Amino acid sequence: MTIPRLQNFINGQSLANESGETIEVINPATGEVIYEIEVADEKVKSAAIESAQAGFKQWSAMTAMERSRILLKAVALLREKNDELASYEVLDTGKPMQEANCVDVVTGTDAIEFFANLAPTQVGQQQDLGGDFYYTRKEPLGICAGIGAWNYPIQIACWKSAPALAAGNAMIFKPSEETPRGAVELAKVFIEAGVPAGVFNVVLGAGDVGQWLTHHELIEKVSFTGEVGTGRKVMESAASTLKDVTMELGGKSPLIVFEDADISQSVSAAMLGNFYTQGEVCTNCTRVFVHESVYEQFISELVERTKNNIKAGDPQDLSVNFGAMISQKHQQLVMDYIAKGKEEGATVLTGGNTFSPAGAENGYFVEPTIFTDCTDDMTIVKEEIFGPVMSVLTFKDEEEVIRRANDTPLGLAAGLMTQNITRAHRVIHQLEAGICWINTWGASPAEMPVGGYKLSGIGRENGIEALNQYTQTKSVYMGMVELESPF
Ligand code: NAD
Repeated sequence: MTIPRLQNFINGQSLANESGETIEVINPATGEVIYEIEVADEKVKSAAIESAQAGFKQWSAMTAMERSRILLKAVALLREKNDELASYEVLDTGKPMQEANCVDVVTGTDAIEFFANLAPTQVGQQQDLGGDFYYTRKEPLGICAGIGAWNYPIQIACWKSAPALAAGNAMIFKPSEETPRGAVELAKVFIEAGVPAGVFNVVLGAGDVGQWLTHHELIEKVSFTGEVGTGRKVMESAASTLKDVTMELGGKSPLIVFEDADISQSVSAAMLGNFYTQGEVCTNCTRVFVHESVYEQFISELVERTKNNIKAGDPQDLSVNFGAMISQKHQQLVMDYIAKGKEEGATVLTGGNTFSPAGAENGYFVEPTIFTDCTDDMTIVKEEIFGPVMSVLTFKDEEEVIRRANDTPLGLAAGLMTQNITRAHRVIHQLEAGICWINTWGASPAEMPVGGYKLSGIGRENGIEALNQYTQTKSVYMGMVELESPF
């Protein structure tokens, strides 16, 4: 049987590579190779740059209103194709269709709609200088690069391309080699909507293709989503040509359950923030701090709901709410963390094993796992696992829990559950994290800026400020009187 091939998408169409190099893409729920990608070689890379230059010229010359209208057509098309695109995401990632069909494409599309509508509102300023005056123009940067992780492939491609394209830039996007299809589908939608060829190109491959983007002299900015370690390499490489960078990196986020919290809601938050997308979410609240007075009640409901309400299986089955790990390698990595947790003295309350659910017997599943008897210095409490592994810790007072919650080099998200509104705001203002939730967990609408404190990132995605990160300000000074010169 011949394996289907996915080619790089350059200048409005698929482009074959010359090297013949390919990478296999595996459906994590079945362990089968579903297709292979052609790795971008020299021919593909030069075509990507050349067409992006031409695309940028055409796109940036349009008015913001014209660009906005075209992007809104893409929005309509993405909504029409929602279920088809969601199903590709499920095949690539192993996540449940019941998530992908209402979150992944939807939240990606919302960002394009948000920035398309925002584009024509961008204005410069002018100031009188007593006769002379100056004005400023918000100009696009040029060619930007987007590099994506594998957990929310189409959403990440949308979140990066939306502000970039709305502001008049071109983008060359490299999806994760493990989940490349969504970005190519998005590129096709942009073309169908009328975005000029070359404005959104997709190059395929692994880290070396990403690395090429980070040091190419004609690329002005890199927006990266992935691990902290890779982020460091990307920044180092981008420094050689002084590129602007946006970094969306990992987390080890705290959820604090105070003694007056609604316990059922707190359990919902903890489960959403650890088991949604089988734990492969950057903002996960993998450190759950529970006040010692409500610990027993919290744990008993948490274990009961984890044992009874999670259904794994074929992720395309709409009743399934828990999917497979992205790869066998990642499954093993998560299992190694679980072993380390046991070794260091934590107790597995439930889960802790791999398993083969009916309907997806060969998939890379790890049971939803809850650790108790955790201490702050354990590896599972300190490092990002990126799997369905929750560590529950107890605390006695507010000051103590704030200090412990902040005792991490990461700072992506944080949250708390309480009925006391003054405490809610007092505590949240002291937590060192870019994305904070009170009495909820996980919502990330296009209107709200998201990004990390400390090692979790630089810059923000979504929200009004993200558009600014894709423009540069040009100041124009106008001389109205004769120029005086001593020469
Ligand atoms: P990763 O860092 O391994 O890879 C991310 C991307 O970078 C991939 O496309 C990869 O091919 C590419 N890459 C690898 N080496 C590179 C290099 N030297 N130069 C340029 N590109 C390179 O991350 P992953 O395993 O795909 O994703 C999981 C990580 O992403 C987790 O740490 C998670 O927390 C993080 N994440 C963060 C956010 C956020 O918004 N903060 C969102 C999703 C995922």
